[in-house]
Order: sequence, then structure tokens, then C-alpha cells
Amino acid sequence: MENKLDLNRLCVHTQTTKPWDLETCIKEYSKAGIQHLSIWRHLLENQNLKEVRRTLQDHQLSVTSLVRGGFFTAVSQSDRKAAIEVNKKAIDEAEAIGAPLIVLVCGADPNQSLETSRAQIADGIHELLPYAKAANVKLAIEPLHPMYAADKSAVVSLAQANDIAEQLNHPFVGIAIDVYHLWWDNQLEQEIERCGKNNSIFAFHVCDWLSPTTDMLNDRGLMGEGTIPVKQIRNWVEQAGFQGPIEVEIFSERLWKKNQTAFLNEIKEAYIQHT
Ligand code: ZN
Repeated sequence: MENKLDLNRLCVHTQTTKPWDLETCIKEYSKAGIQHLSIWRHLLENQNLKEVRRTLQDHQLSVTSLVRGGFFTAVSQSDRKAAIEVNKKAIDEAEAIGAPLIVLVCGADPNQSLETSRAQIADGIHELLPYAKAANVKLAIEPLHPMYAADKSAVVSLAQANDIAEQLNHPFVGIAIDVYHLWWDNQLEQEIERCGKNNSIFAFHVCDWLSPTTDMLNDRGLMGEGTIPVKQIRNWVEQAGFQGPIEVEIFSERLWKKNQTAFLNEIKEAYIQHT
């Protein structure tokens, strides 16, 4: 018999079970005793958001975050303006389904410096803040692993994310700490402490780093399969004051090939044993 209490804080990202559509995710997570999920935006296309919200409530599932906004960077000003509009739409969607938070993959443009990109990221978030606050949707900067610095995120360490959050200094801006992106950092413990002191730990994502990693995007591991000290990092995050859902976010061609119901059971097991 599994202990249901142990699963109280488990959250699964819909992208973790990518072969499933939103309706299947909701039904299967609920059946598995999972109480939290983070929804990837593409699953909301052509959906009646009011109905989605009702279905979530019917299954006693709460949305931890909508994934994802961001991509604020571009050489061209009109592209940067367009990005703001896309983010406003994401905020509308989050509000409609009852998601209190949007995770931001902040962006990078290979045709400009990382410093320029980081300044554009701070400007973009700053511009969005009144809109986010009006919708009561918070924004979480997610620093990515440095392997994505060229084109996905100029924010590649928790220190950089803390710098931006401190600069913006607004209760609606915080940080999503993802072990996959940050585990290698020898300043991680101190930066988590700093983030906690600022009340900026908005989300915590887990998975594992496989060695060797055969794909930069879609070869993440289940907790316990790789090299990340997940329990240690969770401990730091909790010592810094975080008590929110623990979000399992795994992109893996290998794991997506499995029977996803069986995979969901492995996730629960790995969450209890290795997280
Ligand atoms: Zn993440």
C-alpha cells in the first residue's frame, strides 16, 4: 500500500507524459493520487479554458504553474514587442485556468551579447508586471543550464536569476529552481539561501542528469537514475523556506516510449525514494 500522504506535494508536468493529451493527463494523474500538475501551454490550444478549469476541479487537481512564457530577447524591437503580447496571452490563460504562476524561459538571441539579452529580459519582465499583478499571476524566472545560453536563455545560473529578481524587486517576480539546470553550480547552496531570503523561491523542478547525456533537450532521467543530488538540493530549498509542490519535469524520448501509466508509477516511486 502506498502512503497517500507521501504524495501530497508531488506535481507532474504534462510534458513529462508527453504522449498524453490534457484530458488523459488529468484523468490518469488523478487516478494515481497526484494532486498537482503543471500544464504546458500547447495543450490549451483549442480548449475551452473554463471547462478545463472545471475538469481540474472535478478531479481535485490544482495547477502549480503554466509552462511557459518568456523569450523576451531579440535584436529587433518589434520582435520584443511581439513577445510581450505573447506573454500577456499566457497570463490570460493562466488566470482562466487558475494557475497562480507562469514559468519563464527567458530567451537569448545568438546575434547579440548575453549582457544585452539579460537587460532585455529584465525590461520585458518589468513591462509585464502590471498585467501579471492585475491577473494575480506570478512570474518565475527559470535559469537554464549553460548549454542553452546561445539561444534559449541568457540566464544560466541562480546568481544571475537572483540578480534580476533583486533588480526588479517585486512580489510577483521570483524564480523556478530546476535541479537539471543548476546542480553543477558550486554556489548553489548560497544562492538558494539568498533566493529564500528574498522570498523568491516560487517553484522547484526535479529530474536527473544522465551520464552520458545523448540529447541536449530530450534525454533527462528519472530521479535516482543520474548524477544530481536531488535530496540534497531539495533539502537546501526547504531550509530556505520553500514548502510548495515538488514538480517532476522530465523530457525523455526513452521514457515517452514506455507505457505512460506504468511510467507514472515509476515517477511516484522515484519521488518517494530519491527526491
Ligand atoms: Zn524546469
